[in-house]
Amino acid sequence: MRNFFRFSRLAVFVAVLLLAVSPRPAAAWSGSTHRALTIRAFLALAAKAGGDQNLREWGYATGFPSAMPDLWRLSDREAEAPRHWFEADRFPDCTPPDGFGEIADEAEALASVGMARDELGCAPWAVVELMGRMEGHMRAGEWEDAGRVAAAMAHYVEDLHQPLHCSRNFDGGLTGQNGIHARYEMRLADRCLDHRNLRANRHRIAPIGDPLAALVSWGVESSQIAQEIFEHDREATAYAGGDPEDDAYYEKMWELEGERMVKRLDRCIERLASLYLTAWERAGRPEIGPAPKELDTDSVWSGVAADPAEEAARQAARRKERAGRGLGIAAGGVLVVLGIALALGSLASRRQKDGRAP
Ligand SMILES: [Zn+2]
Repeated sequence: MRNFFRFSRLAVFVAVLLLAVSPRPAAAWSGSTHRALTIRAFLALAAKAGGDQNLREWGYATGFPSAMPDLWRLSDREAEAPRHWFEADRFPDCTPPDGFGEIADEAEALASVGMARDELGCAPWAVVELMGRMEGHMRAGEWEDAGRVAAAMAHYVEDLHQPLHCSRNFDGGLTGQNGIHARYEMRLADRCLDHRNLRANRHRIAPIGDPLAALVSWGVESSQIAQEIFEHDREATAYAGGDPEDDAYYEKMWELEGERMVKRLDRCIERLASLYLTAWERAGRPEIGPAPKELDTDSVWSGVAADPAEEAARQAARRKERAGRGLGIAAGGVLVVLGIALALGSLASRRQKDGRAP
């Protein structure tokens, strides 16, 4: 409960701050949707494992931290932001060249298509790197670290299933549909999506032979769906008399996109669970350690604090330290000036005593 209240306050603070500072919509699914998807991936795994209570508890431990990568973007924007997208519609027909999903090295993959990291985005590579880390932590019996990495991994897989995170027209700016990003993932989902209607099928959870290729293909799927979401946004806006903020817009948009959103999120849960299963199998199927009550929420990449209040306190401390140093320099400067003035004064009086002009 404490977490819930802390998260509510954070969510408001972050939403306002992100809108103010971000050149592109920063949040993805709202924090509650990220949390719901991550918990359900573990619940599906628990069901697959015959009702494993510990796996259920891992779901509750990782659900809240899985919303955190959107906050890491505040303190670590340049490195963090591109992990949240993969704009496959930068390729003709939303399709990367053959073999692109087999290039394990992120920089090499980007260079092969002549795109920068903050253009195309790198969500698939971020997930694969975290899978490797999760596997290593599980092998070493470092269960809390494995859980933190699993939570972060969930976030990027979930973002990759948000179609507008896979389009260069992510906020409709290229087609005069500005604001579509938040309309779709925040307002439409928050108004109409009932998480209790998500029904992941545990029988679809299975190890994945080539996770990178799979992740790239999920991004391509999202990118293709995004093109239809743009059309439906136009249709729903026309239905609402040209006002995409009107209730009628959301009614129409849910009619056009609701079923697909629910199905897509079901697939997302099954795929996330499949990635976890893959990492666990690669780690040699170790016995899973007990789920902690709470997981650390600082960035698994840079260690920046997920809590903006904490980050603000750190920055204030740094400013104070710099101001302290500045004060020291200023005080030193005053002493030097005083010293020079005294020296000149005594020189002048000595010269006067010597009978020479100052
Ligand atoms: Zn995100």
